[in-house]
Formats: sequence, structure tokens, C-alpha cells
Amino acid sequence: MIILLFILDGCAINSYIKAHTPFIDSLSEKGFITFNCKTVFPTATYTGHSSIVTGTFPEQHGMIGNQFFDKNDKKVKHFDYYNPSEYIQSHTLFEMLNSPKTMAVAEPITKGADYIMPMQELNEISLEKRDELIFDKTMKFLKNYNIKFGVINFAGVDGYGETFGPDNKKYLNEISKCDQFLSQIYEIVEDKLIMIITADHGMTKVSKRFNLKRYFQNVGISGQFLESHRACHIYLNKDHKEIMEELNHIKEIDKIFLKSQTKDIKLYHKRTGDIVISANTGIEFEKENLNGSHGGYLKEELYVPLIIMSKNYELKYKYNSSRIYSTLDVAPTIIKLSNIKLNNIFPGKPI
Ligand SMILES: [Zn+2]
Repeated sequence: MIILLFILDGCAINSYIKAHTPFIDSLSEKGFITFNCKTVFPTATYTGHSSIVTGTFPEQHGMIGNQFFDKNDKKVKHFDYYNPSEYIQSHTLFEMLNSPKTMAVAEPITKGADYIMPMQELNEISLEKRDELIFDKTMKFLKNYNIKFGVINFAGVDGYGETFGPDNKKYLNEISKCDQFLSQIYEIVEDKLIMIITADHGMTKVSKRFNLKRYFQNVGISGQFLESHRACHIYLNKDHKEIMEELNHIKEIDKIFLKSQTKDIKLYHKRTGDIVISANTGIEFEKENLNGSHGGYLKEELYVPLIIMSKNYELKYKYNSSRIYSTLDVAPTIIKLSNIKLNNIFPGKPI
């Protein structure tokens, strides 16, 4: 059996529904599909992917955003530059399924994978070519190696969403393009095949950047402001009274969590900021000129599609309308499909 986990990076539910996806539509009816699936906060790429491939919350895997302040050596560590494999603190599916050959294609979390196409390779090519390259590499790995498990991250989807916004045709077309890639991958596999499709986070429209660093410089409050798009970990040198008073008045801010309150959202870790905030509707903290973003706590960022389909293998999944599914359910589902017994290490449940 081959299990392939596809992540449509930054695929929002409403956009997925609007996009033309005839291949997934034709198979998901016989498989499993839900739009009632929650990812983790912050809805940032490294955090979301880490939870999917380890089946654990940020409080366990420690990937609390795209970057964090390392108190040990007093350095800011951004995972674009510091290898996530050295920082992730939970076992990945690649490690848990250690006997079959595994591949990670443009997947940011690669720890334990046998065949890897690093996500960084995408930086050198234009947005239009990214998902095509990911597709080509996936086909190559499947043809040349005896792959039994793979994670394929269609990172181009996120790029289109951020550049053009979640309602834009180009973003919807990119989701449709991935549907075509999936159908071609399905065709070449002759073995029993399970395809799981989900996203690390959704996408919301933004129209304005709110620069936290500049704002707090102007009001004379110091601290480290480490953004992951629409979320920010704030690290302070003194108590939080002064800054809290200020934060409470900023209309661009949606949620404010003191570090102790991040326990409730499974984000409490030694790397977590003294305060964690998320942006209000339409606001981006980190980058200029985006039309779509994520990181925050809005429904369109937190809920993602979760789809399971198969070939030469009958799935017997029943949709439970009262259950809120989670991207943390993916790892235990894969472990169960692989007939591996791991005693209750997952907070999620198999589908
Ligand atoms: Zn992402």
C-alpha cells in the first residue's frame, strides 16, 4: 500500500469549494470529506505542517510560529534559515513509519524522510512553475524508488493566495491545477493507494499592514516582535502591564494571549512569547503588499479541508457531523492504516 499525504498549502475552505476540482469530487464521494476540520494556532506554515506530520500540538512539537526567540543563545531563529529538523521536538511520520521508503516533496518538515526535495528549491523559480516542479519531482520519486509514504506540499497555492487574495481567480486556478496533478499521480500508481488531502492553514483577505515594531518604537515600548504573518510572539524584558494597556487599545489586534493563557490553545512552550497576539480582519503584521494572509485566529484561517480517497482499496469511513475533525487526526489515521501499534501517543483520533 502507498499512502500519499497532499498538503494544499494555504487552501481556504471557501476557495476550495469555489475552485473547479473534478478529480477530487469524483473520488471523495466514495471516500471521506469534511470542511469541519481545524488546524492549529498560529495558522503559520511551519506550525501547521509540524502538527500534521507529527500529530501533536505546538506545545509538544515546539514549532510555535515561523520564528521564535531562543533564550539559550539570545538569537532570533527563523525556520527559513534554521533547519526545522533540529528544532522539532516530536517524532514525524517519516520516523514512525521507519521501514517503508518515504519522500518529502517541498514539505518544510523532512526529519526522517528518505527522499527529499527541499522547500528552499522553490525560492529560485517563479511562482507559476512551483507546483509544476513539485508535481514533476513527485512523479520522479514514485517512478524511481519504491515509495510507500510521501508528503507532497503544493506550496504554490499559498504563494498565489498571499499575492492575489483568497477570492482571486489565479488562486482558485492553482487549486484546480493541483486537482489535475493529483489525477495524474493517481493514474501512475498501480498498487493500493490512499490519498489524504488537507491544508496547513486557510487564507483570509488582507488590505493593510500594521507594523508592530514601528508602532511600539514610536510609543517608547521595547521588546522583540516576532511575526508569523498575522500572529506575533512578543518577548519582553520587563513585566507586561505597560504593553498590555497599549495592546488593548489597538484596533488592528484581534486576540491577545498572555503566555499562561496559551495553555488553553495548546501553544504553551518554553519558546512561546510572553504575549501572543493575532491580527484583526484585513490586517497583516509582517509583510507589505499582500492581498491574502494567515497566521491569525479567524475561521477562514483555522478551518481547512480534509479529504481521504483511495484506489484498489475500500475505505469505510463514516462522516460524523457532530465531530470537529483536526489536522492532528491525520497522523493517527496514517499510523492505523499502516497497521502500526503506537500506544496512545496522539492527542488526535484516527478518522
Ligand atoms: Zn502554509
